[in-house]
Amino acid sequence: MSESFQEPVVLSNTYWTDEELTSAIRAYLDMLRAELNGEAYSKAEINRQLRAGALATRTKGSIEFRMQNISAALYELKMPWIAGYLPAKNIGSAVKEKMIELLRANGVEFLEPYVPTSDHEELACKVTSLRKQALAARPLGSFQPAMVSKIATSYVRDPAVKAWVLQIAGGTCEGCDTAAPFVALDGLPYLEVHHVMPLSSHGSDTTTNAVALCPNCHRRCHSSIDREEFKLSLYQKIPRLIVEVPGMD
Ligand SMILES: [Zn+2]
Ligand SMILES: [Zn+2]
Repeated sequence: MSESFQEPVVLSNTYWTDEELTSAIRAYLDMLRAELNGEAYSKAEINRQLRAGALATRTKGSIEFRMQNISAALYELKMPWIAGYLPAKNIGSAVKEKMIELLRANGVEFLEPYVPTSDHEELACKVTSLRKQALAARPLGSFQPAMVSKIATSYVRDPAVKAWVLQIAGGTCEGCDTAAPFVALDGLPYLEVHHVMPLSSHGSDTTTNAVALCPNCHRRCHSSIDREEFKLSLYQKIPRLIVEVPGMD
């Protein structure tokens, strides 16, 4: 039978039930998942399948429009959306909220790692998660990343402690005993000073808790899977250091 007989035009503007919206959302998320995984899919075919099933009373165009509503909701959530469904403009806030509610009820969480963040730890977690699942396509990124201002707290540091530790190191990393990797802008060998018991754990800002490290060894102290063993090796290797007990907040 021909489509035009099956689809009275009036139906395309009637209120969509939650069940209908849910069918569209599930189909949309399946397509988006395929797109992000680099798998092929056909929008036209999915649209046909929806009209042959859950969305039998809807037109091709009205389903396409709902798909653009879903893109608009995802855009609002700062999540990726299907490039072929440009976010609908002028979508009412009630529709958008309903879409967001149904997206959340239908597994939109898998897009969470793609949401931009200004939080360093959250960014690191998201990057790890995306690296482990491997990105299929080069992301667009943002030509004008948003800025946020934060209230920062920092410790008041003693310049003489830092200078003395660097002076004692004499341009050689106290972790791996190799020469500083380059000369810094100030004309002096570049090493970084690390507090073995972090200041944030109430470590002291003294020469018995600070070491001069090359950038690799410094990163190792903070980011390595063996950072605890590496810290112990510093305590063993550098007689000046005194083990401190982490304080409580
Ligand atoms: Zn080193
Ligand atoms: Zn450090």
